[in-house]
Amino acid sequence: MTINSKQPQVGTTIFTVMSQLAAETGALNLSQGFPNYNCSPKLIELVNHYMQKGMNQYAPMAGIMPLREILAQKTADLYNLQYNPNDEITIVSGCTEAIYATMAAIVNLGDEVIVFEPAYDSYVPAIELNGGKAVYVTLTAANDFAIDWAEVKTKITERTRAIMLTTPHNPTGKCLTLEDLNQLADLVKGTDIFIMSDEVYEHIIFDSRQHLSPAMHPALKERTFLCGSFGKTFHTTGWKLGYCMAPKALTAEFRKTHQWITFASPTPMQYAFADFMKDPDNYLSVRAFYEEKRDKFIHWLKGSKFTWKPAEGSFFQMLSYTAITDEPDYDLAVRWTKEIGVASIPVSVFYHNRYDNKILRFCFAKDDEMLEKAAERLCRL
Ligand code: GLN
Repeated sequence: MTINSKQPQVGTTIFTVMSQLAAETGALNLSQGFPNYNCSPKLIELVNHYMQKGMNQYAPMAGIMPLREILAQKTADLYNLQYNPNDEITIVSGCTEAIYATMAAIVNLGDEVIVFEPAYDSYVPAIELNGGKAVYVTLTAANDFAIDWAEVKTKITERTRAIMLTTPHNPTGKCLTLEDLNQLADLVKGTDIFIMSDEVYEHIIFDSRQHLSPAMHPALKERTFLCGSFGKTFHTTGWKLGYCMAPKALTAEFRKTHQWITFASPTPMQYAFADFMKDPDNYLSVRAFYEEKRDKFIHWLKGSKFTWKPAEGSFFQMLSYTAITDEPDYDLAVRWTKEIGVASIPVSVFYHNRYDNKILRFCFAKDDEMLEKAAERLCRL
């Protein structure tokens, strides 16, 4: 039997490849983005409590109401953004699903979607599997990964259906600014272009920056699918729980696709998060927690030959290695995993043409011991 592959060029995601290599070689795994420490015992207690209580059957397709309500409240309190929990918030199985369900809802055959590279690796497959075409805008280290909106304008055509954004950004850590939102608003004014905004690192943002969602711009909210996650905020990436907030008409279409992808997401975890989020400190404290980790990692790297700009947000620090070698980043990530025992992600995998900035991405969602050990090894290079 042969399958006429829909994704002939696609292999296994880099995160699986590098984590596997790290496991095989016993390297410190700073590649795939997940914490190596546990979530709050309180959260585990809550999940256990709801399991014992019998909350083990399907949740409503759109998610349990208390979780949608607490999300609505948080979004209103923090950003003065109103979403109706009834028909504008949907709980899904992780942000990757939210992104896929959004594309499945809005992309028709031949539609174009603007993607900024470096781009998280699930974006383009989500477009293409739904019959769309990715139109690339390339951001590079030379321009500090800033968006040139005049260039974006040249990529817009009659077929442009959506623009995909990430803030804070993976892998660069960059955050959208008010100026970005204003330029974006000007660009899409009077068009039918939607925005998919991936904000999974919303609470991991540093140096007193304010998280800015496109949805916070009055001219953009009506067209934005705000996709988020509980995994990064609460150290529970394995629970695969996320959400999408969007105006009523958009949510109606979103739910049509979500219901065929997972139908509903795990029930006891939803109840646990609904309770846990009643105390805002449980998500607001995450910022300081990760800022300290970023600062320690950077501190331990002082004296190394790497160069960097401290991440603005996310739990990734990019390190430029041009003063050490000019090898391709992919080969280097593999070699250093084997030879010095530190695994990272080569940033070129986030570009369709494998553009090489000579930068590796390191995840600092790791305990201090691992971070210090990894930095010590990196300093020897
Ligand atoms: N988001 C995580 C990262 O960027 C990994 C998710 C995954 O493994 N698919 O590393």
